[in-house]
Amino acid sequence: MNQRNILEYLNKGRMRSEPWHGYAFWAGFISLFMIIVGIFGIAQHNIDMIFFGFFLGLIALGLCIYGIITFRHQPQGAKQEIRGQDLEQALDVTFSEAYTGTMRTFNLKTVRYCPDCRGSGQALDSSRKICPTCRGFGRFPHEERLEVQIPPGVEMGTRIRLAGKGQPGRGTESPGDLYLVTIVSPDARFKRVESDLHTTVEIPQAIAEAGGKVDVPAPDRRSLPLTIPARTRDGQMLRLDEQGMPQLGTGERGHLYVSVKFI
Ligand SMILES: [Zn+2]
Repeated sequence: MNQRNILEYLNKGRMRSEPWHGYAFWAGFISLFMIIVGIFGIAQHNIDMIFFGFFLGLIALGLCIYGIITFRHQPQGAKQEIRGQDLEQALDVTFSEAYTGTMRTFNLKTVRYCPDCRGSGQALDSSRKICPTCRGFGRFPHEERLEVQIPPGVEMGTRIRLAGKGQPGRGTESPGDLYLVTIVSPDARFKRVESDLHTTVEIPQAIAEAGGKVDVPAPDRRSLPLTIPARTRDGQMLRLDEQGMPQLGTGERGHLYVSVKFI
């Protein structure tokens, strides 16, 4: 959770709470101006000024009153019962961790609503004073330590959902979810094609001609024994069954394809 996301979220909350206030102010201002135009029209016996001044002035006045009424009648509950927003956070994973799966512990920085004013920042006794507990901020910074199981087989952009770990909900509403988006660092030795992996092994030409055994490094630092059949050609591709990437969900592994290169 970075600082920018928190700020965006707080600004959105602020805009949502006062949708009509600004419009009502400007409508009132315009209606006052137009009515003055209408009065000038009467003084100057100008029927166009009278008509437009009073006609547009009354429309603007109506909008102003409508704005004030809807703002006043906005139920307190509607502003305070909002489901928490979902959050997204990038998570760096090495190629080896994507191959085996791993546990990750990290600190999640988020906010908690003030329990006394339920996030409004104002004292609940409608005295329009600021809440003394949070001094009007409505929320407190909150940090939580999370432990997450990264399943084997994640790739670039895999979303791992942590239910209820997003922004808190207001009132009785449920919190949002946290989505961890995995950023898998590449490993120069391996190329991934869906759940298959491709790698290259360098062997002396003598072994290729006579046949033999070599060790092929796997992404998790194991060495996999590979049988080189006699008369193997330069550039030939061999296969290690089910030593590729696991598929997310099923756990079934792809193959590891090994290209032979003579040294
Ligand atoms: Zn408060």
